[in-house]
Amino acid sequence: MKVELLDHCGGDLAVVNAARVSFDKWKDEMDEGDEKLVAFLLKNRHGTPFEHTFFKFRVECPIFVIREWHRHRTHSYNEMSGRYTELPGHFYLPAFEDIRVQVGKPGHYTYVAADEFTCMKFIESLCLAYEDDWKRYKRHLEWGIAKELARIHLPVGLYSKFIWSCNARSLMHFLSLRNAPQAMLEIRRCAEMAEEALKTCMPITHEAFIANNRTSP
Ligand SMILES: Cc1cc2nc3c(=O)[nH]c(=O)nc-3n(C[C@H](O)[C@H](O)[C@H](O)COP(=O)(O)OP(=O)(O)OC[C@H]3O[C@@H](n4cnc5c(N)ncnc54)[C@H](O)[C@@H]3O)c2cc1C
Repeated sequence: MKVELLDHCGGDLAVVNAARVSFDKWKDEMDEGDEKLVAFLLKNRHGTPFEHTFFKFRVECPIFVIREWHRHRTHSYNEMSGRYTELPGHFYLPAFEDIRVQVGKPGHYTYVAADEFTCMKFIESLCLAYEDDWKRYKRHLEWGIAKELARIHLPVGLYSKFIWSCNARSLMHFLSLRNAPQAMLEIRRCAEMAEEALKTCMPITHEAFIANNRTSP
């Protein structure tokens, strides 16, 4: 799974200047007062100044992760098309340490590592299914079936690619839900990579987000 930052604009200073326009003020460099201002805005849920920033990522992950990701409506997406391109035969196989069994009741599940035998059976079963699915897809294409139909049996473990853009406010909201203990492990791994981008490009905002209990403004 890959989450690659392609482009970024705005930063902690963009947040400060969006907020300071209220007083017709402009800063060219951050100072300690500005750092406190970022923390104040975040804590007091003044979210709009964080919207004057932009992050663009290229993401590669399985479709079952994308289905969760694209529920976030305040973001922009463009995904590889299975109508126009022959899909790459790349399927998700979890590492043994990521194979878990669920314990408890719906809404209160905890996850524990599966035993080695169960892991082996699971991986073998996935490999057989993926191989069969892929052969069928290729056969459908050979028969001349349109790509948009040839694919319809393919599983959610198939990888896809998309371009994802959002502002820092939306990104923090995404991170609060998806880089969190209750999130599915696979989307959490991706969210961790996205969080690194926030931390690098907007260190003061990121620090305030952590201090604010990972709650977006
Ligand atoms: C652990 C977990 C389990 C989940 N389980 C399920 C599940 O079982 N089934 C399921 O269907 N989904 C599930 N979801 C998805 C969840 O319901 C949300 O769709 C998803 O997390 C996006 O959250 P959001 O709507 O806050 O984010 P966004 O869509 O990014 O929206 C950001 C914010 O904008 C505002 N907003 C956006 N659109 C509207 C609107 N139309 N009206 C009012 N305000 C709006 C809200 O304040 C919202 O919080 C789960 C999510 C998580 C994290």
